[in-house]
Amino acid sequence: MNYTLPKLQYKYKDLEPYMSEEQLTIHYTKHHQAYVNGANGIFDKLDKARKDNSEVDVKAVAKELSFNIAGHQLHSLFWNNLSPASKSGKPKDELLKAINAQFGSVERFKSEFTKAAQTVEGSGWAALGYDVPTGRLVIMQIEKHNVNVNPEMKILLVVDVFEHAYYVDYKNDRAKFLEAFWNIVNWYEVEERFEEAK
Ligand code: MN
Repeated sequence: MNYTLPKLQYKYKDLEPYMSEEQLTIHYTKHHQAYVNGANGIFDKLDKARKDNSEVDVKAVAKELSFNIAGHQLHSLFWNNLSPASKSGKPKDELLKAINAQFGSVERFKSEFTKAAQTVEGSGWAALGYDVPTGRLVIMQIEKHNVNVNPEMKILLVVDVFEHAYYVDYKNDRAKFLEAFWNIVNWYEVEERFEEAK
């Protein structure tokens, strides 16, 4: 079995004007594909080395594998928590209750999440996780694809703030991209993940 690109639930131009067809196409078919290929390539290399009983740089492989697999997983989560603006919805029911109880308001949650995304040093992600033992919603600021990850938290919502995620549309203006991002959040998917996590 190999990793493969997941199917998108919408067409490349469906996230416009917030994410252009060109931006999404490059991001999905080039960048995400590269992580898929990267992970598969490492597995192939490992299989071969083990068959030949040849030396493997275990430390380098572990690092590279983590980066590529986490990259693939986060992108897969990201595509599915996006939707055309007309179908974006908003937080409701249990999710809304949890956000209001823990953050005070949806606006406050959005502002904290945006700040986490805005202040990632270099390349990374902001993620909303659900911490099962405490029932808390926790914002993670992930560096690269795999640093500062809380391994057991269920991820409900992510945003990619690698420059490759927004450069075509917004150049270096991450803040503008994040403003646009809130228009294309698939709140139905976030709600579903929340229900599953509980
Ligand atoms: Mn990306």
